[in-house]
Amino acid sequence: MQISFFGAAREVTGSCSLVESGHNRILIDCGMFQGGEFNEKKNHEALPFDPKSLTAVVVTHAHLDHVGRLPLLVKGGYDGFFYTTPATAELAKLVLDDAVEIMKYDNRKFGRPILFTEVEVAGVIQCFKPLNYGEEYDLDLIKSGEKFLIKLYDAGHIFGSAFVEIKADGKKVVFSGDLGNAQAPIVRDTESLPTDVDALICESTYGSHLHETGEKRAEIVENMITDGLRQGGVLMIPSFAIERTQELIYELNDLIDRKHKIPNVPIFLDSPMAIGASRVYRKYPEYYDEEATKFFKAGDDLFNFPGLVMCESRDDSRKINKTPPPKVIIAGAGMMNGGRILHHAVRYLSDARNTLLIIGYQANGTLGRQLLDGAKVVTVMQERVQVKCRITAVGGLSAHADQKKILDWITGGKSLPKKIYLNHGEPESSEVLAKRLQEDFGAKVTVVDFGLTVKV
Ligand code: ZN
Repeated sequence: MQISFFGAAREVTGSCSLVESGHNRILIDCGMFQGGEFNEKKNHEALPFDPKSLTAVVVTHAHLDHVGRLPLLVKGGYDGFFYTTPATAELAKLVLDDAVEIMKYDNRKFGRPILFTEVEVAGVIQCFKPLNYGEEYDLDLIKSGEKFLIKLYDAGHIFGSAFVEIKADGKKVVFSGDLGNAQAPIVRDTESLPTDVDALICESTYGSHLHETGEKRAEIVENMITDGLRQGGVLMIPSFAIERTQELIYELNDLIDRKHKIPNVPIFLDSPMAIGASRVYRKYPEYYDEEATKFFKAGDDLFNFPGLVMCESRDDSRKINKTPPPKVIIAGAGMMNGGRILHHAVRYLSDARNTLLIIGYQANGTLGRQLLDGAKVVTVMQERVQVKCRITAVGGLSAHADQKKILDWITGGKSLPKKIYLNHGEPESSEVLAKRLQEDFGAKVTVVDFGLTVKV
């Protein structure tokens, strides 16, 4: 078996790996490269393989950096299936439709090139083949006679997310996809890593970082909302539409509706994608963890509460401006590299009474990262904006596993994977994690480079 890395190599976006075994050529994810621009130049470069030569594609989860270049495969002539969980298939549709909208807007407004259209997105959506967790499936679709077995396990990262076990050519390989944070609500915990793994390809987003511990998530949310509103201004929360937003609403529902712990201020959910994603969450209660299942069975709507205002249309969004502070605005994109949060940023960043609360990972080059790094002036939608509002960050709500969780996951089983390849991390994160795995556990670790091909 041979594995080649064509994305998320010494960076956190653009996930894409090719697995070849006999006549089978299977791609794991094909995500968008993201940075300062929603659609980075790198996405427009020719794919380093011929999409027509692929025999199947497997998708770990619906984040744009894992699904954002799937339409390019269709554009390049791939006409096979995309295997993933049913929830990922539905969420990926929302993510890709949203990407088309953002690219069209960027094209009209700034003349930026469009990477793909509704046509290619429809080509992907039609060819999703749902697979349930734990089901073994032979991807030797070309009937070469060489089995290529895959099994999806719950990665606990976002709704529907999976890590992938591959058995082919007498070897067992696991792709972690993205691993979930240990204490995330709604989603179940990451399933254990299978034993006797010959090669593990593992993410390392937070390979050098430990999330804050000690404080419960509900307390974090309570504190960040009350603290963010203490000056009577606007609390802006850029939030990934999928998972982070549902988790936040789930916690707020508990704090406001059940515990009455948060002041009664309007909370705007200004993200059609997040509203759509909540519908998918409602459709698959079988994915819920124990606590969410309990609330669901008691008849509680987990993704709504008094005071929550859903803004689907642009008109709804504009109405937020007319509501006087204090108010909370939750809007995408999570790294502020597009989406409705930008309009609010232009309006509210320059007022010292307001707060911008960062709750997710901010990739290099994004507006969110610039603000987090303390920029005093930023350019938002071609406008120069003075930054006077308070910028705070909370890491405990991350959808990603931290260093401890990754180490526990890799080393917690009966046997250590024979070889570990780290991807999906900025160089420092991957290197620090590699060092820990080598020095503390004697693991054989490689931090992958773009274009690297390894034999298993
Ligand atoms: Zn992800």
